[in-house]
Amino acid sequence: METAAILIGSALIALVAVQVILGTVTSVLALSRQRKQNSLSDLFMMERIEAARARRERESQNAWNGFRKFVVRQKIEEAKGTASFYLEPHDGKPLPAFKPGQFLTFRLDVPDEPKPVIRCYSLSDGPRSDRYRVTIKRVPAPRKVPDAPPGLISNFFHDHIHEGDILDVRAPSGHFFMDTQAKPSAVLIAGGVGITPMVSMLRAIADSGSERQAVLFYGVRNGGDHALKAELKELSSNNRNIRIVTCYSGPRDGQDVKGQDYDEACRVSVDVMKEYLKTSNHRYFMCGPPPFMQSVTDQLGEWGVPADDIFSEAFGPASIKAKSEKPRDAVEPVAGGAAAVQVKVTFSRSGKEISWDVGKDSTLLELAESNGVEINSGCRTGGCGTCKVAFKSGSVKYESQPDCDIESGCGLACVACPDGDLVVDA
Ligand SMILES: Cc1cc2nc3c(=O)[nH]c(=O)nc-3n(C[C@H](O)[C@H](O)[C@H](O)COP(=O)(O)OP(=O)(O)OC[C@H]3O[C@@H](n4cnc5c(N)ncnc54)[C@H](O)[C@@H]3O)c2cc1C
Repeated sequence: METAAILIGSALIALVAVQVILGTVTSVLALSRQRKQNSLSDLFMMERIEAARARRERESQNAWNGFRKFVVRQKIEEAKGTASFYLEPHDGKPLPAFKPGQFLTFRLDVPDEPKPVIRCYSLSDGPRSDRYRVTIKRVPAPRKVPDAPPGLISNFFHDHIHEGDILDVRAPSGHFFMDTQAKPSAVLIAGGVGITPMVSMLRAIADSGSERQAVLFYGVRNGGDHALKAELKELSSNNRNIRIVTCYSGPRDGQDVKGQDYDEACRVSVDVMKEYLKTSNHRYFMCGPPPFMQSVTDQLGEWGVPADDIFSEAFGPASIKAKSEKPRDAVEPVAGGAAAVQVKVTFSRSGKEISWDVGKDSTLLELAESNGVEINSGCRTGGCGTCKVAFKSGSVKYESQPDCDIESGCGLACVACPDGDLVVDA
């Protein structure tokens, strides 16, 4: 009886011991499985972090700050006095994508010029990772000032920049661009060399497979000035959603054939557009000489196109004003004709304090220049950012919004005017 009890007790103890051992083994196994899982998810997380880091690095390698070296790989004559320059990054690394309509900023050392000269040129091709293209027209002396020197940089590009040369170029920028995936149909209006951003937009529509409808109205004098003709023809022939209407204002007898080289013998105007467009309900993208853009902008307004649907880029130091707008800072003249308001502009580093006539003086840059205060400048249209200055106090307002990003407390002198007393760090 006693032996049986001992046996049963031992068996029970053995059972409990087996259970304890089994329980311990199970929890050790579970713990190890959990550890394995944790280390796998740690690994997965680390891989994701590494992939994100590599992606960020790749992206930041593509984009660049300041100037990057580009080799002129090809220079091609496109029309009389207009040439395209194909630019490849000297470092051979891929280029960041840009938005069709944006421009590049160049810095050139020109003999006899005391400082490097800055100019902007629109990208005239669709985004590609291997090269950029700009298309530049020679600028002659103004008709009214025939003795003035011709345009410095446009002619320098034509006469002195050759295949194999290396140029300093800032990354693409600018707020004038097209979203190729947007739905509303687009009307593109180009005068002369203002065709460059439009070709970029059409090429981007075609290359991205976008179904956005686009009609381009392109105005030039005659076939001699008709830049990028073959490329435009190819774009409209191969893409059902792209239509091009070319207007020659003075076709050459015996050389320019209507229906073959051009569509209409007139200037681009809303009257021509009405013949091709069923309604005025589109988004309008416009680039060309300032008087041309002013005139078309006014006509579009009269046709009922809201100002918000018109996007434009000015190539020269001029800006487009809606017809109804009052002159900038217009103030009632006081008796005797004197300007009603003056504000004080202090250039702190130069130690100069100058009165600004509201409604009379033009830009902060011109005020500085006419008073011997040095501020570097480039495009003089609020695009390249060269004339950026910091303000110690006060603020500025703009006739037309700058085309580049500006930190708070700074401004672009070429398009700014003081909004009250101002202290400029220059
Ligand atoms: C965003 C943007 C994009 C652009 N894209 C393009 C583009 O794709 N293609 C293109 O061809 N251009 C483009 N431009 C225009 C380009 O940047 C230059 O403004 C243009 O090439 C003229 O520069 P320039 O150095 O040749 O002329 P400048 O030397 O600046 O001269 C301009 C004019 O002033 C005259 N002038 C010079 N000195 C005097 C004087 N003492 N008295 C009177 N007149 C004088 C010159 O004869 C000339 O007519 C773009 C401009 C901007 C802002």
